[in-house]
Amino acid sequence: MTDITFDSTSVDWNKQQGATSGLIPAIVQHHLTGKVLMLGYMDKAALEKTLATKQVTFFSRSKQRLWTKGETSGNTLELIAIDKDCDSDSLLVQVIPNGPTCHKGTISCWLDGNAHTFMDNLTHLIISRKGQDADSSYTASLFKAGTKRIAQKVGEEGLETALAAATHDKEELVNEASDLMYHLLVLLEDQNLSMELVTKNLMQRHLKTKA
Ligand code: AMP
Ligand code: ZN
Ligand code: ZN
Ligand code: ZN
Repeated sequence: MTDITFDSTSVDWNKQQGATSGLIPAIVQHHLTGKVLMLGYMDKAALEKTLATKQVTFFSRSKQRLWTKGETSGNTLELIAIDKDCDSDSLLVQVIPNGPTCHKGTISCWLDGNAHTFMDNLTHLIISRKGQDADSSYTASLFKAGTKRIAQKVGEEGLETALAAATHDKEELVNEASDLMYHLLVLLEDQNLSMELVTKNLMQRHLKTKA
């Protein structure tokens, strides 16, 4: 685990006046996807508790006390990195969320289409097809048919993708690549893995090459 060193005295705690005096906004972002998850406020004690426990803690304006996100729901935010902005009056907090961040049950507190990437939505749809009636959808029928069949489809679609590229058929390439991505998502979910794990792995390789 990376050591998070951040000097809590380097923040401009006295910039805000009135109701938010002594508080600064903290934007919470998913460490891997970059998705903005929520906004909270921190005072110095909240920031220090966050750094010490690696569990993101805010000062709740409604509760008027320190609030560790997930303290009742269990949907905590594991601290990965923290940074202040150009004039030290706001924070960017990068996390790995343990469950949905919004108390309404969604991944992010912002619900519009842009906040959720299509791949996320597709992944959730695929997961929701698990265990459903095989004739209710193609995805459900794939799960029913089992790992061997899904793996075979990934192989076929991979070959079709390669052939489309080799024959310079761009429209076909887009179609076959879509087939491949979809079946790969299904295969990963069938194995109780996820595109998120693959992304994580790719990012770790990327970090290693940079080091
Ligand atoms: P939790 O910290 O997840 O255990 O949730 C405790 C309470 O904090 C919830 O009932 C909400 O009132 C509030 N809360 C939790 N998550 C959020 C959020 N992302 N944004 C605003 N309020 C939240
Ligand atoms: Zn600023
Ligand atoms: Zn919310
Ligand atoms: Zn195909």
